[in-house]
Amino acid sequence: MRCMLCESFSLFHICPSCQRTHLTPQWHHRTILGSLPVYSFYPYSDIEPLLLTKHTDVGYYLYSILAKNSFKMFAQTWRYAQRVASVGVDDRAKKGYSHTAILNHALHSPTITPQYGKLRASHPYTYAGKSVQERLLNPRKFIYQPFKEDEVILVDDIVTTGSTLTEAVETLAQHRKKVILCLTLSDAENK
Ligand SMILES: [Zn+2]
Repeated sequence: MRCMLCESFSLFHICPSCQRTHLTPQWHHRTILGSLPVYSFYPYSDIEPLLLTKHTDVGYYLYSILAKNSFKMFAQTWRYAQRVASVGVDDRAKKGYSHTAILNHALHSPTITPQYGKLRASHPYTYAGKSVQERLLNPRKFIYQPFKEDEVILVDDIVTTGSTLTEAVETLAQHRKKVILCLTLSDAENK
């Protein structure tokens, strides 16, 4: 096959050279709910062409490559006093896999236990391309499923307005789960 970025022949959808030069994380940070940090790994414009593949056949492979270069690297160095859960926001599978579940899976470490299916939207409304007002009028109404850990890393692929992450944090808080940070692949504000 050919690398999707440089078009040279490669065994991978993105060749090792492009993974090194284009997929080295560039940390970006914002806060929601006053002080809760939301970290993202890539400027939106850098990975936008890749994100557009997310509902195609190669989407699974691309998300796996992105996850390996970002979320997995994070998990290998991040330390915390106790074991925490990582929870994907609405990790329902579409077309056979869930983007958020792929990212979440990459966080597995001695400190982080990925949990799946713990926070799913109660309706299939899609936010892509929707205005802030439409998003606010259509909250996700997450359905929570219990898990053991008290503290949580929240995982999503893109943060746009922050309203989805905020709703997820508030849903977990109702069940006495404390979100300590949010991780997203990309921040739409960081172009
Ligand atoms: Zn390449």
